[in-house]
Parts: sequence; C-alpha cells; structure tokens
Amino acid sequence: MNVNAEIICVGTELLLGDIIDTNSAHLSQGLAELGINLFHRETVGDNHDRLVHVLKSAIGENDIVITSGGLGATCDDITKEAVAEAMGLELVLHEPSLRRIEEHYRRRGAVMTENNIKQAYLPQGAIVFDNEYGTAPIIAVQKDGKTVILLPGVPRELIPMFDEKIKPWLKEQFSDSTIVSRNLRLYGIGEAAAEDVLRDLMDSYTNPTIAPYAKTGEVLLRLTARGKNENECNALIDSLQEKVFERVGEFVYGIDVDSLEAELNRVLREKKLTVAFAESCTGGMCAKRVIDVPGASNVIGMSVVTYSKEAKIKLLGINPETVEKHGTISAECAVEMAEGLRSLSGADISVSVTGVAGPDTDEGKAVGTVFVGVASPRGVRVSEFNLARGKREREYIRTLAANAVINEARVEAERL
Ligand code: ATP
Ligand code: MG
Repeated sequence: MNVNAEIICVGTELLLGDIIDTNSAHLSQGLAELGINLFHRETVGDNHDRLVHVLKSAIGENDIVITSGGLGATCDDITKEAVAEAMGLELVLHEPSLRRIEEHYRRRGAVMTENNIKQAYLPQGAIVFDNEYGTAPIIAVQKDGKTVILLPGVPRELIPMFDEKIKPWLKEQFSDSTIVSRNLRLYGIGEAAAEDVLRDLMDSYTNPTIAPYAKTGEVLLRLTARGKNENECNALIDSLQEKVFERVGEFVYGIDVDSLEAELNRVLREKKLTVAFAESCTGGMCAKRVIDVPGASNVIGMSVVTYSKEAKIKLLGINPETVEKHGTISAECAVEMAEGLRSLSGADISVSVTGVAGPDTDEGKAVGTVFVGVASPRGVRVSEFNLARGKREREYIRTLAANAVINEARVEAERL
C-alpha cells in the first residue's frame, strides 16, 4: 500500500521561534516505522483562514493529515473548527467526551467553564481515542477516503497518545509494511574511505538502503529495509550486509551495539575476562568509558593514571633506563607499562597508553603520536598510532587515543 501523510503543526509560538517543534520529529519517526510516506511538513499560526487553507491543500494531496496543537479550551485553539470547515462537517456535541471532561474537573475539584464544553464538540462521525493524559479529545475524522488526526500540542500528551493509541490504529488501517534498521559499527576506517568503497551500493540500492554516519573516530553504517514483516526486512538486510562485509567487514566491530566500550564489555563478559588500564595521555578516559557501561564491575577491577615519569616508574615499575634511552612516549615504555600493570592488577588484559595529546610536541614526538601496549596470556605487544589527522585539538586526540586503547583491549579479548 502506498500511503502518503502530511503533518501540520499549529501555533504562532512555533512560527516565532519561541518553541521548537519536537512533535514533528516524533511523528515523522513513527510514520517512517509504519512505512507511511511523509513528503511535507507544515507549520501554521493560530489563524483560522490560513489553517483552513493549509488543511484543504494537505487533505487534497494526502491520504492522512496529522495536526499537532490548538486543541485546548481557549479561543486561540482553533484546529478542530478549522478541520470541520475544511472537511465540510458539522461540529456536534459528543456526550461521552463531555462526561469525561466533567469527570476530569470533578476529580481535581476544579470548576468546569463554558470553554471546556467547547472541547466536547467534535466533527460529525469522529473516531474518539480516550485521552488519558489531558482533557482535549483526540480524534480521527474520516471522509471521502481521507483521514485527519488531531493531536494536542503538549508533548507530554501527544507522544504517549500517538505511540499507544494512534500508531497501532494507523498500522491496522494503513500499513502493510514495516521498516527494520540495522547499525553496523566500524572502527579503523574513516567516513570518506568507507563511502568511497561503498558508493555504488549506496547509489544502486533503494530497498534496503545503506547510509553512513560519522562518529568521533568511528563510522556507523545504517542498513534499512522495508518489507511485509520483520523476517522479510531482515532477509533483505542480510543480503546487503554480506556485500558490505566483503568490502569493509574487517572494520566492523559490532552490530546494533552502542559503542566500542559496550562491545568490549560484552566480549569480556562472554569470555569471563577482566581488563585494566595504565593511562597517561588519556588521563582516565578509558576507565571512565568502560565503567560507564552497566555491568562494568564484572570486567574491570582497577585502573591507574600514571601521567608523570615518576608515577610510571613508581607504580608500574618501569625501568628508569628505558625512559632515559627511549623517552616515556615510546613503544618500549608502553610495553613496560603494560607488563608492570599486569603484575599490579592481575587482570587478564592489561593495556597501557602513552602519547602526545598536544597542542605542543613532546620529547620530539609529533602531536597525535600514541603507543598502546597490551599484556595478556598471549604475551606482550605494542601498536603505534598517529591520530592527529589534520586536527590538533587536545580533547579530540585524547578521545581518539581512548578509542584506540579500548579497541586494542577488545581485539585482545576476541583473541583470547
Ligand atoms: P492546550 O490545551 O495546552 O492549549 P493545545 O493542544 O491547544 O493544548 P497548543 O496550545 O498548541 O496545544 O500548545 C500547547 C503547548 O504545547 C505549547 O505552549 C508548547 O509548549 C507545546 N507545543 C505545541 N506544539 C508543539 C510542537 N510542535 N512541538 C513541541 N511542543 C509543542
Ligand atoms: Mg492551546
């Protein structure tokens, strides 16, 4: 079924920029999930004639029109009247709604005014959804194959009512398709490079589609399919995923996971392993990120920040001669830090990091030079990274260094 919808937000406040239209974003996502097309969104002020005009054209061009706002009890709330006029319907008193509104006021010990009675007048034949979050009746009006749905502006009412009542109703009425997305998380390849290798797939595939998003030092590839049901969508995504893996599979570290640290947490728990960090330039970022993930106590017991040369010697027991000869920003130092941390922590995987976060060079090493050491039952290894990539911001380089450390821990855990 090919169903088109339009969203109309009502409110002069929106046009003045006094409030931000977050309702549309929520409604748009919901429609996308239902596989209902959305080609237009409109915002119109609290003006009867202009609203009727916009409504008429939206109803003319679409199967479904959803309005947000202007359902209150005051005289600037005009959406219902405008919808009735645009559709050529009378407003008639809806007794159950009147009783519901009366009850609402009685429970609060407040007095109901004439204005509130106005809220119980609905376009003839309207389908009424019980509004559990406020007084405004939430309704769908259908005529000549067109459907108009009226939602209140207050997000606290609109969001739950749309999710709980309107979406299931729309699905039943209009949607014979569903949408499924799968997120592949990549580390070790830039967005531009990923786009380059995937360009032809991005251009030629319309269902499923593939879209890359850049994250800090990472790439997210979202594969999205539309189909009759979840199985059909998943089968479509599987076949595209296979092609994507042929090209960038080596960089994929997780599917539908939140972050490198979430994936590290998952692997460590699966294998019943623990990790520890000895951090210099990252200053505790790695430990923080790993501990941010729920269930961290299963995978990390300790971590140290050894920023100065003295701390590295004292806490990690690295050889002063190594520092003398190679400096603290060196592969040799990273190796000794990882080994020292291994005996200090007793963790299965001990990862060290030392590097130049900038803005100035250090020990004659360029900004962004980072060494990561890993000690585990497999032995000790060290990797060198250059993370500056044209940018020199300290925070950025430290974040990329933490990414590298967490990824090295993850790779080691996979191998153990
Ligand atoms: P009320 O009964 O409160 O008058 P209503 O259905 O008439 O509700 P509006 O008067 O249009 O809705 O809006 C009420 C409030 O809801 C606004 O002041 C604003 O805070 C919020 N709101 C309205 N429209 C939106 C929107 N599109 N996105 C986010 N918030 C909105
Ligand atoms: Mg209002």
